Amino acid sequence: MIIGDAAGLAYPESGEGIRPAVESAILAAQVIASAEGDYSQTTLLAYQHRLEDRLGKRGAKEIMDFLPSWLKQSLAGALLTTHWFVRNYVVERWFLHSDQPPLVVEK
Ligand SMILES: Cc1cc2nc3c(=O)[nH]c(=O)nc-3n(C[C@H](O)[C@H](O)[C@H](O)COP(=O)(O)OP(=O)(O)OC[C@H]3O[C@@H](n4cnc5c(N)ncnc54)[C@H](O)[C@@H]3O)c2cc1C
Repeated sequence: MIIGDAAGLAYPESGEGIRPAVESAILAAQVIASAEGDYSQTTLLAYQHRLEDRLGKRGAKEIMDFLPSWLKQSLAGALLTTHWFVRNYVVERWFLHSDQPPLVVEK
């Protein structure tokens, strides 16, 4: 079971990886604890599913990936001078991830 940077979990927009590292470690520990000694691939696959539910699929294509780089550059230039975009996307979503609720830790 691979966690954190080793699993390539840092947020692609910001490069921040502390939260994904901590959360992936918690999810891995939960799956191990609930496996009750059955460490088969089938059982441990639950980790991958929980990870994708929580952080999304890494490497999944987004709409921006299909745009030519000249268009992305000019869009970025315009958007990054917009207070609304910087506040709501760059700060709140890409860095603070305030749209994502805290991970519930099972006891
Ligand atoms: C300059 C810089 C600034 C950053 N700033 C931020 C930030 O502000 N916010 C944020 O969220 N993220 C930031 N990050 C990213 C963040 O540091 C990583 O995403 C996070 O530390 C990943 O945690 P990890 O536990 O997966 O890996 P690591 O923190 O890299 O831990 C891996 C550990 O394994 C040890 N290790 C490696 N090989 C072996 C081995 N063979 N045997 C035993 N031990 C081994 C390493 O020494 C290390 O201690 C920054 C990264 C850098 C480089």
